[in-house]
Amino acid sequence: MPWQHPLDPSSITDRFGDTEPPRTSPHRGLDYAPGSRKLIGSVSEATVTNIFWSDCLGWICETRTEEHGLYASYCHLFCNKHNTVNCDGSDHEDGSTCMSQLKIGDRVDAGQWVGRVGNSGSCSRGSHLHLVFSKKPDARFAKVFDPEKFIDQKIAKQNKAKKTPKIRVGDLGKRLGRFWTLKK
Ligand SMILES: [Zn+2]
Ligand SMILES: [Zn+2]
Repeated sequence: MPWQHPLDPSSITDRFGDTEPPRTSPHRGLDYAPGSRKLIGSVSEATVTNIFWSDCLGWICETRTEEHGLYASYCHLFCNKHNTVNCDGSDHEDGSTCMSQLKIGDRVDAGQWVGRVGNSGSCSRGSHLHLVFSKKPDARFAKVFDPEKFIDQKIAKQNKAKKTPKIRVGDLGKRLGRFWTLKK
């Protein structure tokens, strides 16, 4: 099952656990800032478990990954309804969310979009994605761990598996030998 970064890892601006001011507590997520409205790809095959508003984290698309059953939450999303990165969560009383097409229960493949980069929520200072990994739902309160470390470990394993096994000269001789035997 493939895993990937939701956006180009070169756009990572703030890592998990960072405590630099103005932070008053360690960073609970991983930040990517590739520019406003960039499409965010799912980190792996997953099901959308919730799309909700948080005053601090803004619009959140929460997904549960098929493999490992982890919760990957994409925060501060762009609002499709109001066509703005700065939606304040109001005027959604009709049950609409920041999404125009994605809804709870939908399944997504790795890389399939789960929102656009926005600046929604009072804890955001400029458009970026705040990605949160947790074993339980709700990025606001769940115990969290480092998404970058997890994704990079997964990618490293995938790359290792992809490498074709090398054929030694001795083996090649044996294979050819078998071939000629068959031909005779
Ligand atoms: Zn809105
Ligand atoms: Zn963040």
